[in-house]
Amino acid sequence: TGGGLRRGGSLVAKDARHVLHPWADLSALGGQGSLMVCEAQGVEVMDSAGRKYLDAIGGMWCVTVGYGRPELIDAMQAQARRMPYFTPFADVANEPAAELAALLAELSPGDLNRVHFTTCGSTAVESAVRIAHLYFASRGRPAKRHVLSRVNAYHGSTYLAASLSGKEADRTRFHYETEWVHHLENPGFDPDDAPLSASERLGQLIDGMEAAIADIGPENIACFIAEPVLASGGVLIPPPGYHQATRELCRRHDILYISDEVVTGFGRVGHFFASEAKFGIVPDMVVTAKGLTSGYQPLGAVLISDHIAGTLTESADPAKPVFSNGFTYSGHPVACATAIANIDVMQREDICGHVRDVGPYFVERLRELRNSPLVSAVRGDHLMACVECQVPGETGPTARNQALAGRVDAYCEKAGLLVRPFENLCIMSPPLVITKDEIDRIVAIMTESLARAE
Ligand code: PLP
Repeated sequence: TGGGLRRGGSLVAKDARHVLHPWADLSALGGQGSLMVCEAQGVEVMDSAGRKYLDAIGGMWCVTVGYGRPELIDAMQAQARRMPYFTPFADVANEPAAELAALLAELSPGDLNRVHFTTCGSTAVESAVRIAHLYFASRGRPAKRHVLSRVNAYHGSTYLAASLSGKEADRTRFHYETEWVHHLENPGFDPDDAPLSASERLGQLIDGMEAAIADIGPENIACFIAEPVLASGGVLIPPPGYHQATRELCRRHDILYISDEVVTGFGRVGHFFASEAKFGIVPDMVVTAKGLTSGYQPLGAVLISDHIAGTLTESADPAKPVFSNGFTYSGHPVACATAIANIDVMQREDICGHVRDVGPYFVERLRELRNSPLVSAVRGDHLMACVECQVPGETGPTARNQALAGRVDAYCEKAGLLVRPFENLCIMSPPLVITKDEIDRIVAIMTESLARAE
């Protein structure tokens, strides 16, 4: 074993006995052993038995520049040696956080020039909503505290972020905030099988949002939070014009627009940030994490407009001027140094350009899977995609359809491909450095797995 694992005994057994995995199947806890992933290089990971897998999940949508990048590893080591920890806190700063914040201000849309670092996507989402509340309280409008989200959204796993999330499967047996969190219809639009045209669907969605705003009262609403493309909720792509129209509604009603770019940021759909470059909007805040460090270190960030930051400063309570939000690991120097190295690699190798090149090929090739009678839909935007499985005649995430997707996933794993099962979907978000040959390998294994799963 490597990396300080010296104690002996089966690590698979220890994992099964002691680790509660995120999204574990509780009914099978401790039962079957898990795939123990030990090593990784390029777009592949290796298990404890030495078997290799093409990682079509990119870790958790986050390993963008691929595994084993010496530039990132060297940056982590160098920063750990120089100063492994000291967080920017109150009036103390650290160098990597300052440098990274300036870089993010350059890369981000519009006037998003102020950065609040967090530990992950969930804490960035939570922080963005707190900033929205603080902003309206600073303007003497504390009643503006309700939050608009969407069905099928995923915004994280801390309690407020989970309340904002709208995936039905994750909502059972928990006590989510429902008094001031509201879920609008998910904006998914699939031109292949939509009964409505794109403009009719857009009209429907915007009418629905306007009705919700009227119902709750714009004087009570602080912010709207939206993933540019809903990721783990099923790669749901909105009709053209959706983000511009929702942005405009927010502006009209003095509602802050928070773009959750935890997945779409850092190249996944061909740009550092999708909001402006792809969807033509400048949000009031952007939330990012995952690809920010290519997953090499945990780090999240809220990018905040100068207007919001200016308001918070100008209207600070002289008796209590403190911004009471932050984490022990906010702006962690090793994580920030890793992010800087990651951005360097992305710029030097034009990773976004590469995604714009191979992304359409990935989606086109996956769409061939619709020839299988077990595939009801394939949706994708560059390097985020999902294949929806269904037994003929049975639609949606029924037990049989979920079991089918589970079988496809299991065959893929046996054949050396990792995809991410969710309900009856196989979700894919490979490292952004993936080549067309590797995409062909993904499609070949998926085709074979679908044939075997019948
Ligand atoms: N927002 C989106 C769109 C996500 O997909 C995720 C995680 O998958 C999060 C937020 C939460 O990020 P984290 O898991 O880093 O807390």
